[in-house]
Amino acid sequence: MPSTTTPLNILIIGAGLGGLSTALALGSDGHKCTIIDAAPSFGEAGAGIRIPPNSSRLLMRWGLDFEKIKKSKSERYHFLRWDDGNTLLEIPFVGKDYDAPYYLVHRADLHSALLEKVESMGVPVLPRKKVVEYDFDNKNVTCEDGTNYSADLLICADGIKSIARPLLTGKEDNPRDTGDVAYRILIPGEKLLADPELSELITKPCTTSWCGPDAHLVGYPIRDGELYNIVVCATNLSELPGEEWIVKGSNEELCARFASWDTKVQKLCKLSEGFLKWRLGDLQELTRWSNDAGTAVLLGDSCHPMLPYLAQGAAQAAEDAATLRACIRKISGQGVTLKEALLEYERLRKPRVTTVTKFTRTHQHILHIPDSSLQRRRDAAMAGGDHEDSPVFWGWRERRLWLFGCDAENLESVAKPLPGKGPGEGLAGEVVEEAEAEKGGDGGWVVRNVQEKAGEVVQGVKEVLGLNGGMEKEGPYSAA
Ligand SMILES: Cc1cc2nc3c(=O)[nH]c(=O)nc-3n(C[C@H](O)[C@H](O)[C@H](O)COP(=O)(O)OP(=O)(O)OC[C@H]3O[C@@H](n4cnc5c(N)ncnc54)[C@H](O)[C@@H]3O)c2cc1C
Repeated sequence: MPSTTTPLNILIIGAGLGGLSTALALGSDGHKCTIIDAAPSFGEAGAGIRIPPNSSRLLMRWGLDFEKIKKSKSERYHFLRWDDGNTLLEIPFVGKDYDAPYYLVHRADLHSALLEKVESMGVPVLPRKKVVEYDFDNKNVTCEDGTNYSADLLICADGIKSIARPLLTGKEDNPRDTGDVAYRILIPGEKLLADPELSELITKPCTTSWCGPDAHLVGYPIRDGELYNIVVCATNLSELPGEEWIVKGSNEELCARFASWDTKVQKLCKLSEGFLKWRLGDLQELTRWSNDAGTAVLLGDSCHPMLPYLAQGAAQAAEDAATLRACIRKISGQGVTLKEALLEYERLRKPRVTTVTKFTRTHQHILHIPDSSLQRRRDAAMAGGDHEDSPVFWGWRERRLWLFGCDAENLESVAKPLPGKGPGEGLAGEVVEEAEAEKGGDGGWVVRNVQEKAGEVVQGVKEVLGLNGGMEKEGPYSAA
């Protein structure tokens, strides 16, 4: 039910998961939202997406009907060794701890459910509207086709390559290449069910992560087991050698790269058909998210793209929407100005999302350690049960509660500091430091050695393929 007494005219630039979640949050509060997007039609590229409890609780509250989405539910997180598949750590995701489920869905299903919902609320969602000019003072945008849109507030949810961001921060703020790539793979669930060694990946839904040198593979079922989704997160060993952000991958190169991994991984690679490889970028903390005049604000990947290693990018965008909704409510409730509301949104959201982003960077190292004394220390710490020094973020209940238990519409909840050690501290920090210190050495597992290793791997792949790599440019970059 609309609850605001001062409805605003809001223009949202970007109809990705962030923009649509925002329209859902603010539209259900009585604001008049319009969404414009450069894309000719709507739909999400990519494969599966995890909707953790900090996001599912918000989307459900705003009226998204998950009953209409074919989904799976993750009950636990299972970390395995890369070569023999032995368990490193199992973490239960107890729904009652957070009062909200951990869903596993196809992102196209989530996107179309959100789109349908906001359109049913009367929110116009207009394709082919590429913004080419912002006039923040006059709260106006101009699109490539010459059309103009004005509003009380511009919400720029235009993704990692945001053109609003540099205008708003006054800096270039280009995304950083993290040195990692993600392969996004879907396999029909029935193929796994037909193999007794793989069938439990479908029948006992959970998130499984094989952790090994230079890579980890995350797998989970979606669409109630119709599909098994795999995200291969790996050091870029020349898989994306040029400027492209997305390229096609081949089954042969995948099998070659993971030929010495656990037999389950090898089988999954064999079952994988066509897939795409995505360059992974992120961004350092921005100086600001809103403009001086209090007329425009950034949201989602436009202000905090991150590595997908905590499965939090879209979830943090939903949190942004929730906090923005709560701050804007104070305009009528407590007489604050729109500018003050935007500043409070930024003040609350920036530290929390920066902490999450930094943890995704530590996981880039922690989940990719080659067999070594450091890896044995990591494994021992993982095996040590639920404790603060667990090197994986989820390995301590207090941290899980901080992340999944947050209700981002409750401003005290958003402001709650992370319990225990920060992202650069403890064993996790030591691992990152050691990785950094090895730069230029011959340890062989951080970015410095990519060129050297790339040569070997590419040569190996060429031998398997009997050809020259076989990648082709796929299309424009999107973080989806
Ligand atoms: C491999 C991988 C796995 C992931 N897994 C998860 C996960 O499990 N859970 C999770 O929560 N997150 C996950 N993420 C992160 C998540 O996908 C992103 O954080 C999220 O999709 C960002 O949404 P967004 O709406 O902010 O940006 P985008 O999805 O990039 O949307 C931006 C929109 O703006 C439009 N646009 C851009 N420029 C203009 C312009 N000038 N004019 C008009 N429109 C414009 C674009 O067309 C696009 O539709 C993952 C990411 C990757 C890469």
